Amino acid sequence: MPPPTVKIDRYRAAAARIIGAALTSDRAYSRLAHLTDHIGHRLSGSQNLERAIEWAISEMKRDGLDNVRGEKVMVPHWVRGEESLEMLAPVPRKLQMLGLGNSVGTSAEGITAEAIVVRSFEELDRLGEQVRGKIVVYNAPYANYGATVEYRWAGASRAARYGAVAALVRSITPVSLQTPHTGAMGYDADQPKIPTAAVTIEVAEFLQRMDDRGDHPRLRLKMEAKFLPDAESANVVAELKGSEKPDEFVLISGHYDSWDVGQGAHDDGGGCIVAWEAVRLLKELGLKPRRTIRVVLYTNEENGLRGGNAYHDAHRAEIAKHVLAIESDSGVYRPEGFGLAATAPLQVRSNMQEIAKLLSGIGADQIAADGGGADIGPLMRDGVIGASLDVDGAHYFDIHHTPADTLDKVNPRELALCVATMAVMAYVVADLPESFK
Ligand SMILES: [Zn+2]
Repeated sequence: MPPPTVKIDRYRAAAARIIGAALTSDRAYSRLAHLTDHIGHRLSGSQNLERAIEWAISEMKRDGLDNVRGEKVMVPHWVRGEESLEMLAPVPRKLQMLGLGNSVGTSAEGITAEAIVVRSFEELDRLGEQVRGKIVVYNAPYANYGATVEYRWAGASRAARYGAVAALVRSITPVSLQTPHTGAMGYDADQPKIPTAAVTIEVAEFLQRMDDRGDHPRLRLKMEAKFLPDAESANVVAELKGSEKPDEFVLISGHYDSWDVGQGAHDDGGGCIVAWEAVRLLKELGLKPRRTIRVVLYTNEENGLRGGNAYHDAHRAEIAKHVLAIESDSGVYRPEGFGLAATAPLQVRSNMQEIAKLLSGIGADQIAADGGGADIGPLMRDGVIGASLDVDGAHYFDIHHTPADTLDKVNPRELALCVATMAVMAYVVADLPESFK
């Protein structure tokens, strides 16, 4: 690792002021409370999302931020409608479920078929044609999000290949209190589109036991899910304009849309509030960096990524001017530091580690081996250095994409620490007289 080229001593006083101001302000929490309690969940195409966008734009203008605007993005408009899952035999029983985003629906009378439970794709492949006409239930235990989410994303088409009529997927989570987790799925263009929904760990294990005993559980799945025509939405963009190099940017961001259950508090209302509040605090403190800090609240991360792609396309001409792009989308728990893209140059890693020392007092000074984010992915593929705000991840996937992602799960002090962490890093990188790279 090369020695750092940045000098952090000149930023110690500013970092202390930022941290102090973040920890004594309740603005981040009260804004997240408005977003979650007064507006609520924000799926693409919903009125809630557009209300949230209008509110952010008007509040950011009130904050005195620069160049506040919505940048138009057309987004997919998937609606869940009514849905239910019940076991008809051997014991009539209602089962907890939540349709997966992008799924097709069933006919009004639903799909009635025998369930066949598998623990893995390998087991499905061994059964092959034996699943024809049946509802495949994937009961894959949680390994980690990236690995297990493949069942949610691809399970329907993998089962449809063998003639299954629907697919149920054990929720992608390590723990459950009968909480189903939704999330995006995708169809393979070569296979018939069959309806697909998440079930809770409890339901998946129940069906597994039934199937293992040879009880042949018979299920009825009803889903009204469908796509409406694309809807108009927007990325919310605001800036703290740089004093010397206003056309160079440090981008800080989250995604403003959420699933249509719960309140989208941790995912990702909190991440948006962190980015927004970071620049508002800097402005309030009179800290004007040399480069511009740009906040982006992306639309449509969850079921389309249209916001991240639209930002990339609309800002093509200035991509090379993005010095660093940070995304906060792992919840707003106690911050540990940042994850820096593994592809980042070693000099950048060394400099970021040096700057993070300013956060050692609040325990947020770790620079992890990899990082980035879905929305900044298109920028990163064009060479922008990407990073994520890293937080204590012990409980994020307990509530991720569930009705339980609500404000009571957010600790106000941890949220304030996230604001402090984001604000210090963004400010110092934006203000460096020397090159960050
Ligand atoms: Zn998210």
